[in-house]
Amino acid sequence: MSYKITLIPGDGTGPEIAEVTAKVIEATGVKVDWEIAQAGVEAVEKGGTTLPSSTLDSIRKNKVALKAPLTTPIGTGFRSVNVAIRKELDLFVCLRPCKTYNGVKSKYENIDLVVVRENTEDLYSGVEYTQDSEESKEIIKLSNNKIREHSAISIKPISSFGTERIVRYAFEYALKCKRRKVTAVTKANIMKCTDGLFYETARKVAKDYEGKIEYEERLIDNMCMQLVQKPELYDVIVLPNLYGDILSDLCAGLVGGLGVAPGANLGKDIAVFEAVHGSAPKYKGLNKVNPTALILSAKLMLEHLGEINAACRLEKAVADVIIEKKCVTYDLGGTAGTKEMGQAIIERLK
Ligand code: NAD
Repeated sequence: MSYKITLIPGDGTGPEIAEVTAKVIEATGVKVDWEIAQAGVEAVEKGGTTLPSSTLDSIRKNKVALKAPLTTPIGTGFRSVNVAIRKELDLFVCLRPCKTYNGVKSKYENIDLVVVRENTEDLYSGVEYTQDSEESKEIIKLSNNKIREHSAISIKPISSFGTERIVRYAFEYALKCKRRKVTAVTKANIMKCTDGLFYETARKVAKDYEGKIEYEERLIDNMCMQLVQKPELYDVIVLPNLYGDILSDLCAGLVGGLGVAPGANLGKDIAVFEAVHGSAPKYKGLNKVNPTALILSAKLMLEHLGEINAACRLEKAVADVIIEKKCVTYDLGGTAGTKEMGQAIIERLK
């Protein structure tokens, strides 16, 4: 049997790691019939839009996609295609396991955390008003001049619907994966309405799991310090979108960097797997970056497909190559290129 899966090669270093990852998956023996779909800068060059409807249609049809990173211009330029894919397909869960692999240089040992980030709301809603626009002037008036004149404004929506489903996912994940605790993280002491609603909703959901999974709350600033000082205290962490984005990179740092941090965007029946890191454009075409994060995202994809044996073998092959240290990329202290590290993983799978 062969799985039909959408492959978005991305841009920057994306195509290099996507190619290696596809070969590694093939080496597990799981047969995949890739449907290549474009997005981002490359898609604009080919068809004039950053997110062609054919790409979304392909993911909707195949239900599973593997996506390499896409560049988003900072400040001005087009909006994030990554955010657009998550919103268009209602991929409300961003699941980011952060686990220490022996041999990866890190200040910490035995980290095994899971970040569950809400993916569709919060300051990522894309509702923003430029300085001196009619809308921002109107909001400034509504605020009773609590907002300074000539401000640009971004809106932060948090709904009980959006919070309920992400927190419930975190608890269900904890139950399924035999985890002990869910920690909800916000800044509800300051954002009483939005983050307050996140906590209020999370507490209601937590009641359904009383006696099975522990529940606790932390403020985001304190959580950053706690994770740096005592990461072993935490297990599954659930957060609104922006805090989740920032904390994911912090957790990637705990386990040795972005080169080894995988992720999955999950909806009701669609899943898009991607690394936490971005397109690292300065290394484009240099065969330099670490393919591990996308390969470990592919491991999550194999688990999602029910290919548990292949997923375990793949993770072990990656772990063995890392611990051996003979064929690893620069970020893991080696001199191997993207392709060579991929090939070493393939050899382990034979
Ligand atoms: P980045 O993750 O691309 O790179 C930051 C630094 O981390 C790199 O310079 C490099 O030193 C290191 N790094 C990243 N991936 C690595 C890997 N696989 N192996 C070894 N080292 C690695 O972050 P950035 O520079 O902030 O963003 C670059 C672009 O990527 C931006 O346009 C951003 O919007 C985009 N981005 C995309 C995604 C996504 O597609 N999901 C995620 C984050 C950022």
